[in-house]
Amino acid sequence: MRISVIGCGYLGAVHAASMAKLGHDVVGIDLDAKKVAALSAGTAPFFEPGLDELLNEVQSTGRLTFATDMAAAAGRSVHFVCVGTPQKKGENAADVSYVDAAVASLLPFLNPGDVVVGKSTVPVGTAARLANLIAEQQPDANLVWNPEFLREGHAVQDTLSPDRFVYGVPGGDEEHAAVGVLDEVYATPLSTGTRRLVADYATAELVKASANSFLATKISFINAMAEVCEAAGADVTVLAEAIGLDERIGRKFLNAGIGFGGGCLPKDIRAFMARAGELGADQALTFLREVDAINMRRRTRMVELTRELCDDRLMGRHITVLGAAFKPNSDDVRDSPALSIAAQLQLQGAVVTVTDPQSLANAARRFPELNYEPDLDTALRGADAVLLLTEWDQYRSLDPHETRALVREARLLDGRNVLEPQKWRAAGWTYRGMGRA
Ligand code: NAD
Repeated sequence: MRISVIGCGYLGAVHAASMAKLGHDVVGIDLDAKKVAALSAGTAPFFEPGLDELLNEVQSTGRLTFATDMAAAAGRSVHFVCVGTPQKKGENAADVSYVDAAVASLLPFLNPGDVVVGKSTVPVGTAARLANLIAEQQPDANLVWNPEFLREGHAVQDTLSPDRFVYGVPGGDEEHAAVGVLDEVYATPLSTGTRRLVADYATAELVKASANSFLATKISFINAMAEVCEAAGADVTVLAEAIGLDERIGRKFLNAGIGFGGGCLPKDIRAFMARAGELGADQALTFLREVDAINMRRRTRMVELTRELCDDRLMGRHITVLGAAFKPNSDDVRDSPALSIAAQLQLQGAVVTVTDPQSLANAARRFPELNYEPDLDTALRGADAVLLLTEWDQYRSLDPHETRALVREARLLDGRNVLEPQKWRAAGWTYRGMGRA
């Protein structure tokens, strides 16, 4: 099939390459000429495991090209909209202006029978509004809302073989023409048994908002338990293990630490609350305000713990922060808890050095006032305290003895509870985890 993918960021670039891998002829369109140039040269403009290899593989087939001009969408029959929906400045609501602009610039190129597929995460009601807009211009084109659930760090795998597909179409009609078209696009993963659910627009949009809200709630739940464990002298890691064995609860997303961040969960739960408010259902989501507050408290807690560990003085202390990305295997620093903690420590007088295997350039653009050091040993040298804030494998596997030889004071804060306290304490470290006595 001939496909266009509009917006080639973390979602769209992977989607474009994956659709070409599935055998389609794809053009990826983005306003950002630098991104398009990198992608055209077969290089991912951001770090995502497997993406460079996938780009090279599919580009050699001639089935994947990139462009900055929307005219490249002309003559293609399926158009995926993958542009950003960031949080509005100074408000909780999502900024859907990029989605609106992308659809508006696509309209002149739509032909009868074309299918526009929305993948961006949008407030409920957006799809119905856009469907009307499309119908005015090209009544024989269709809109499907097909929310995306990929995880950065696993984006290629998640796109090629997702857990499920959700198609939002008018009235949730399984027989709708666009359902057959999207089934053809996704024929390969569907043939291996991936579930596909057809819903109305509003339900499809709400599936995404509620999935993210559930995940955020699970993380904040265990972080709330961590707060109580800290107060009671208990250990949240054992607690999580024990409750996680109950299959109704499950062990995943029960790792207490410095909380969630990134370009999705924080802004998505806020946008969901804002939209529910507009719909008169704000009471239903007041708990998400608490989920957000618990999450943000973890960052402040980490700063307090660092101060405690440094004998109540941050001024002039050399602090090494391991990790800047919001999670390992990504270079995405949007709303990264690690960077937010590093910046707070710096503001309180500490001399902070941040290291990360992939995200230092992005981090330096957001927080130019911090020191960045790509070499791990150099970053550790002379530290008065070490904070593990993003759990990259290389930090999980640090040797306590070798690390001790580099630092000035053997103080360690494990913001992700991934190190073995006994091992580090036995090597002479003062170890503090999150929610553990
Ligand atoms: P991103 O900021 O990395 O990418 C968005 C891209 O869209 C940018 O490259 C931008 O230049 C481009 N763009 C903006 N307006 C455009 C236009 N009019 N025409 C062409 N290109 C345009 O964002 P992202 O992380 O890829 O997220 C995109 C959407 O997908 C968001 O709604 C997000 O919530 C959702 N989502 C993201 C993920 C994820 O893990 N990143 C997962 C699921 C859903």
